[in-house]
Amino acid sequence: MAVPQKKFVSQFTMMGTVISLTLFEPRQTAIEAVYDYLEQMDRIFSVNRQDSELSAVNQAAGKKAVTVSPQCFELIHDALNYSRQHADSFNVLIGPLVKLWKIGFGGHQVPSAPAIQERLQLMNLDQVELNATQHSVFLKQAGMQLDLGAIAKGYFADQIVTQLQQAGITSAIVNLGGNVKLLGANPLTADERWQVGVQAPAAPRGYPGLQVEMPAKTVVTSGIFERYFEVNGHRYHHILDPQTGYPVENQLDQVTVVTDQSELAEVLSTVTYFKGPKAGAALIEELPGTEAIFIDRKQQVTVTSGLKPRRKGVFYIE
Ligand code: ADP
Ligand code: MG
Repeated sequence: MAVPQKKFVSQFTMMGTVISLTLFEPRQTAIEAVYDYLEQMDRIFSVNRQDSELSAVNQAAGKKAVTVSPQCFELIHDALNYSRQHADSFNVLIGPLVKLWKIGFGGHQVPSAPAIQERLQLMNLDQVELNATQHSVFLKQAGMQLDLGAIAKGYFADQIVTQLQQAGITSAIVNLGGNVKLLGANPLTADERWQVGVQAPAAPRGYPGLQVEMPAKTVVTSGIFERYFEVNGHRYHHILDPQTGYPVENQLDQVTVVTDQSELAEVLSTVTYFKGPKAGAALIEELPGTEAIFIDRKQQVTVTSGLKPRRKGVFYIE
């Protein structure tokens, strides 16, 4: 029998998304520290602020190196490594293309082929110079732009969980706009495991459709339903192919990745979306402690081998 226990849920809007923190003891100071941390991250990473460190790096493209904070350096460094590792599908220099398509930001358009070609020339990873001693970043070609949209939330979620742990908190749910990271044992269940809902595209909002039971891990979804537009019945969504410059064309609605590190989950969800259920699952099967759920256009669900069916719509991870 689970011991009855209270939960303390705090919610606020930041970075254009809803942040929700669930603790199992009243810890107001820790919540405020997370709020302050995310405000600080927004000041560093926001692409909507002209004065953010990331904007400064982008504005100095082709001109000069910019010295940034340790966090900014670290995230850019990680993102570049992942971009090298998954060169066919993940590219942190996708900024100029994202700006061109404007998907999910209003005023979207299908760009001309020459405009796309031009932007693709600005995505060469060798044109980024990092200096670890000075913590400086230099985008060597004018027009280059870093876009951390496919990785930043994961990095923040990992940092927040570490902070909570350092504050002596042993159980928590950190939810950054659907990117979920769990800490410790679930005090509300007898077996101390967690249940995380995965919003299937066809299920009504708020009804997850799928559920995964697991120990403390992270759950991240990349899908094409949050941001897209349609022209003549064709859907253009926000996961762009760094080789063609167009939205990735496949039969998938979304991919959910479950693993231990949220930053990695973010990258893998984008990469496996791109690769599709076959090649994507093959990649995931090679990684220890990592699983994925693929949902295709017909709402067909495929899962990797560590996700065992419990009953309809419910999977569990040992
Ligand atoms: P979301 O959590 O908003 O669904 P994702 O994690 O799937 O987003 O990342 C999508 C965002 O990442 C895009 O809005 C864009 O800023 C950026 N992006 C799009 N395509 C790529 C890509 N191939 N590699 C790296 N970043 C990308
Ligand atoms: Mg992602």
